[in-house]
Amino acid sequence: MKEPQTLRIHDTLTDTLQPVLPADGKRVGFYCCGPTVYASAHIGNFRTFIVQDVFRRVLELSGTPVKHVRNITNVDDKTIKASQDQGQSLNEFTAYWTEKFHADCAAMNLLGPQIEPGAVEHIAEQIEMIRVLMEKGHAYRAEDGSVYFRVESFPQYGRLSKVSERELTTTTTARSEDEYDRDSLADFALWKAAKPEDGDNFWESPWGSGRPGWHLECSAMSTKYLGPGFDVHSGGIDLTFPHHENEIAQSEACTGETFARLWLHVVHLMVDGRKMSKSLGNMYTLDDLKAKGFLPAEVRYGLIAGHYRKHLNFTLPGLEAARPNLQRLARLDRQLHEAAGHPKLPKYAALCKRDNNPDALGRFAPAFASLLDNLNVPKALGETFRAAGELEKQPAAATEADYFGLRVLLEALGLELPPVEVEEAPEEIRALAEARLQARADKDFAKSDELRDEILALGWRVKDVKGGYELEPA
Ligand code: AMP
Ligand code: ZN
Repeated sequence: MKEPQTLRIHDTLTDTLQPVLPADGKRVGFYCCGPTVYASAHIGNFRTFIVQDVFRRVLELSGTPVKHVRNITNVDDKTIKASQDQGQSLNEFTAYWTEKFHADCAAMNLLGPQIEPGAVEHIAEQIEMIRVLMEKGHAYRAEDGSVYFRVESFPQYGRLSKVSERELTTTTTARSEDEYDRDSLADFALWKAAKPEDGDNFWESPWGSGRPGWHLECSAMSTKYLGPGFDVHSGGIDLTFPHHENEIAQSEACTGETFARLWLHVVHLMVDGRKMSKSLGNMYTLDDLKAKGFLPAEVRYGLIAGHYRKHLNFTLPGLEAARPNLQRLARLDRQLHEAAGHPKLPKYAALCKRDNNPDALGRFAPAFASLLDNLNVPKALGETFRAAGELEKQPAAATEADYFGLRVLLEALGLELPPVEVEEAPEEIRALAEARLQARADKDFAKSDELRDEILALGWRVKDVKGGYELEPA
């Protein structure tokens, strides 16, 4: 039987490294806060979604299946306002941006979550949760028909974000909630009473017409699809407070059970020292970068190259490093594929079923081990290029395990390799290769080997192919 290997991640709640193990012994339940669909997601958003994708891939490839749920926020102030500005219904408008999000995800090779619920499609579940919270005395209705969670009723509030009660009452918490009438500044909306500017974007509830607050959707949908307690919850670091703190309060007050066991937060993508965000106007979308000539795989590479627990500063020249690195991996992949006797390209699902213990990963075992150690992608890439250097110098030493090891690693990172670019060799190199071809025709193998080494010393590798030779940069 295949023994799963253990992935460790940094858990925000305990501020320690924790093993990721499925509580039910079968699958890791994984909930990610998804996009708000009112415009293209920017690459800062994608940094978070891609790290979550790598997390899932590493778990699956190390032998632990994952049930991945990621919501779509398709009703909030931003989606309502933007749909009205466009003269479209909320449904029509958010469906368009959801589709665009899916297209960008596919281009950057993200695995789709198995379940992708939308907030609008789960109003009933959210109302039911509010009903229970009211019944248990954790929520109250304000005069205008909005319903608030009473933070004071949940003494554990602040455990995740380490926010103190004093800070809570002196800071406004989230998204325009201060427009509403609540008992304490810390209290947050579970239900927002309909306002004239919402147009026809409201639903009926026992407290009057309105719509659910943003925090509630994640509590309701994670509970529905993963149960009241599940393994891992994730989002960008900005969601720690108040969003995730509020999710914990609502869910645990409602169900009486521990909500998520581990919390995985991704540190921000920055531009010139500031968080990349739509509101700051310092953002790039995938389309912006494609228009500048970058491939989606290069953008993905650039977004994972830094450790998820550190700020990653985005620059266009920095992103240019992705192309030669991916080219080098593509040449290596081709070299190892040949050395392994051209096996059929193993699919992701097949690699997940394989026993990817260190012995089976050849020279790429240390790289995969770095991923298991708190998703250390920069270290994994360093290990990969170190192995690449060895294999480029000694192609004959390549084993089948090296090929599969590289495939596992590329799948873990979700890197789709571009076709190998053919670089025209200079005249001098081609002349040497021609001389070598002649030496081989004359069966003068000593001379042929000598010329091969001379070509290599000049930075090119000559390879024999049917009817001739190929030259590639070494
Ligand atoms: P939103 O669509 O605004 O709800 O955000 C979707 C996800 O992107 C959330 O997990 C955010 O925390 C995350 N996010 C937003 N800005 C950034 C950024 N600059 N870097 C990394 N993640 C971000
Ligand atoms: Zn959420």
